Amino acid sequence: MTAQTSRWIRNFVDGRFIDPDDGGKSFEATDPATGRVHSLVHEADAPLVDRAVAAARKALGPWSATPVRERTEVLRRAAALIEARFEEFVAAEVADTGKPVTLARDLDVARAVSNFRTFADVVAAAGQESFLTDLPGGRQALNYAVRKPLGVVAVIVPWNLPLLLLTWKVAPALACGNTVVVKPSEETPGTAALLAEVLAEAGLPAGAYNVVHGFGGGSAGEYVTTHPGIDGVTFTGSTATGARVMKTVAPRVRPVSFELGGKNAALVFADADIEETLDGLTRSVFANTGQVCLCTERVYVHRSVFADIADGLVERARSLRLGSPLDPATTTGPLISQAHREKVRGYLDLAGQLGAKALTGGGTPGLGEELDGGSWIEPTLWTGLTNADRPVREEIFGPVAALIPFDTEEEAIGLANDTEYGLAASVWTRDLRRGHRVAQAMDVGMSWVNTWFLRDLRSPFGGVGLSGLGREGGASSLHFYTEPTNVCVQL
Ligand code: NAD
Repeated sequence: MTAQTSRWIRNFVDGRFIDPDDGGKSFEATDPATGRVHSLVHEADAPLVDRAVAAARKALGPWSATPVRERTEVLRRAAALIEARFEEFVAAEVADTGKPVTLARDLDVARAVSNFRTFADVVAAAGQESFLTDLPGGRQALNYAVRKPLGVVAVIVPWNLPLLLLTWKVAPALACGNTVVVKPSEETPGTAALLAEVLAEAGLPAGAYNVVHGFGGGSAGEYVTTHPGIDGVTFTGSTATGARVMKTVAPRVRPVSFELGGKNAALVFADADIEETLDGLTRSVFANTGQVCLCTERVYVHRSVFADIADGLVERARSLRLGSPLDPATTTGPLISQAHREKVRGYLDLAGQLGAKALTGGGTPGLGEELDGGSWIEPTLWTGLTNADRPVREEIFGPVAALIPFDTEEEAIGLANDTEYGLAASVWTRDLRRGHRVAQAMDVGMSWVNTWFLRDLRSPFGGVGLSGLGREGGASSLHFYTEPTNVCVQL
């Protein structure tokens, strides 16, 4: 059983890969570093999505009745099997995203392994709520809540961290006894298909993990989220699509978990350790070519250190190495697609029209014949923009940031919170009290002090405002992927 046959990436339903039939639709998977097509993907039609949901429904009873110890052992075996096929996963992720091989190794595939191990631990150790209730006359009642799986869960994920975000949802969902129908991004179908092989080999029963490939509206995404057999939707992607999915599931009142867009701020105070801050900002602005929901696109800097931070960040941006993802010296890959590059370019043009100064970048690089068909963009830093300008208000999702000065802590907090998004923030200061105070004052789901994207997978992850609904991670994942039934016994 292989995910790719003659460059085909196939759907996985009821424990087996489905061969594309003659009339079936397909689409191309492109390497964004070169612009070359590397695979054809079988697009799932509505009847195939029906089959996937039916297979998940059939598998739900036996899988949810499997003892927790056995379920978590499947997850641990999956983690070990990903490790055993580590470089295959890395290659599939790099082919789909064009991200540097070092990043795919250190972040994407490594985190997939941790996701399976962590949620095996979390679910194995989970207890349940209980309350002893005093009653008149000295009697008592015992209340305890048993947690049952949510059911058949639709998992819809984006292209920026495909395997990481997929396993972040699939691992807790399966550990809690659910079955899943996964719709990977049309840009990045490869690793979801490989994961099917691993989960089957790890002993997951047929039908518990299904993959349907395709697009959003009028394709697999819509077929899955509108399907009456789905008991809940966990979605990571843009705010606009999240809102659409919410409308879709509203008539059937199904639980949703939304991890959406961001417009994240960094706040750099005068007493910050400049070198440590510059290292952190370089990661937070440019990691994965700015295509991480947590990436910083607004950098507020105390006026007294503005020049130091601007100069240092420009120097570091210029030292980033754009190039072949397979070269271990490459630090920065392309954007995911030409369409996304057009969007980012639109903001580069707009910033120029608004009078911004590009301290570095602002255009598209020439990287030689081999890479010129790719969707490359220069890391870009602006000054001269304010919170009133669209490039500072709207999520761009590229390697760009606006540097804006402030004079007081109060002003910095006001500027950072002046957004409809609310995903993440980072605060850079040597003053411990200020660090706690400002981090807590951020209207976001995650605030970091003197670091960025440092994750303990047991802690809650998610956003407020346009950045999402609900939290996942640790106990929050258990809450989303299960439904409690409270039992009250009079003693
Ligand atoms: P997107 O919303 O375009 O697509 C996400 C997924 O939804 C894809 O699989 C897509 O095919 C599917 N989809 C699209 N329309 C649909 C519809 N009508 N019904 C059902 N499914 C549909 O997002 P994207 O461009 O792939 O990803 C980038 C976005 O994701 C950014 O906004 C980024 O901030 C966000 N993101 C958020 C987090 C987080 O944890 N908060 C993490 C990563 C990415």
